[in-house]
Amino acid sequence: MKFEKREILLIVGILCIMIGVMALPGMNLIYAILIAILLYFAMKVFVGRKKRQILRDVGQGICAVCGAKITENKCPKCDSDKQEKT
Ligand SMILES: [Zn+2]
Repeated sequence: MKFEKREILLIVGILCIMIGVMALPGMNLIYAILIAILLYFAMKVFVGRKKRQILRDVGQGICAVCGAKITENKCPKCDSDKQEKT
């Protein structure tokens, strides 16, 4: 398993939360580990969703002229420019 730098930061952050949770009254090690695991997977899902969202946005393409994001197969900037000129 290859760890990214961001993933290590995530694990360190969760470990800190886990230690904090363990310090709470009525908490034991098993609860703290369960919370840490849940947080880890929640973050993984969140990051995965964000990545997919970025891919979907980029998937529509970028205008070769101005670099704006293409929406509905049109460049919002260049199309409005053309309309203004004509
Ligand atoms: Zn454009």
